[in-house]
Amino acid sequence: AKARGKNTFHFFSQDLKDAAKDRLELENQLREAIREHQFMLYYQPKINLETQAIVGYEALIRWLRPDNSLIPPSRFIPVAESTGLIVKIGEWVIWEGCRFLARQRSRGLDVDLSINLSVRQFKDNKLAETVERILQRTGVEPRRIIFEITESMLMGDTDAAIHQLNQLKSLGVSLSIDDFGTGYSSLSYLKRFPVDELKIDRSFVQDIPGEQNDMDIVAAIIAMAQQMNLRVVAEGVETAEQAKFLKDHACFVVQGYYFSMPLAEQELGQLSFTVN
Ligand code: C2E
Ligand code: CA
Ligand code: CA
Ligand code: CA
Repeated sequence: AKARGKNTFHFFSQDLKDAAKDRLELENQLREAIREHQFMLYYQPKINLETQAIVGYEALIRWLRPDNSLIPPSRFIPVAESTGLIVKIGEWVIWEGCRFLARQRSRGLDVDLSINLSVRQFKDNKLAETVERILQRTGVEPRRIIFEITESMLMGDTDAAIHQLNQLKSLGVSLSIDDFGTGYSSLSYLKRFPVDELKIDRSFVQDIPGEQNDMDIVAAIIAMAQQMNLRVVAEGVETAEQAKFLKDHACFVVQGYYFSMPLAEQELGQLSFTVN
């Protein structure tokens, strides 16, 4: 048993070395990706269930490697975050998102854009300044931008979080709490933060209708949002039944595969929806 234990340890430490090596390699590739402009944004439509119109999009980053493979954010955001490279990448996302909005605008399309912020970006005390500069340079109206943050970013130093939220809000952009319901927000807690929107996490949407617990939670989040005068959006809508449940409960803005996958900008043109 002892020998086996040793062996196990040997393999384990080899695994750790491999993991560290992979990480370093990924970090170097990420630096190169920034230099060589290998990132692109995909856009997932947000649909208004009452009008069936596209009210906006969520920007979702992709990494297009020189070998033409498309790497999803789950594969590189964590390393970008832990190395701090996310701050540069995240700034590019804001630039590109605003340029996208400006192009949409020039085609007569007034839509909004949800942009995900990472922890490091949110903690950066230059963030509001950066956003302000980008808005000015691209001519995008601030009210067209919605920054998505998660509940966990509001934990810890809540004074600093509130300060950052106020800095952003003073620019005229709106703020949304992403993956809402998966964190620890209580009503009283939420009231302290100047946010505009709650985005119901996909995990609560995926088993409605059917799972009574989830139906209750979704209905409660929608009611809470109404009570607090917050907008509410549902993500991860994959079926007509889910869309109907949300509409019946007065959550009118939704996104999900049922309507559209996230798409490259040139693929957005021919989208149309019919919702019953
Ligand atoms: P998220 O912000 O919760 O984004 C929603 C994710 O759900 C996206 O995955 C989207 O493609 C996926 N999705 C959309 N509709 C459906 C659906 O109906 N069913 C299912 N199963 N999934 C759906 P994606 O694009 O792989 O992004 C994953 C996460 O990576 C995002 O989660 C976000 O946390 C992060 N991320 C993406 N882009 C950025 C970015 O520009 N900056 C930062 N900091 N994080 C980003
Ligand atoms: Ca999001
Ligand atoms: Ca989300
Ligand atoms: Ca998520």
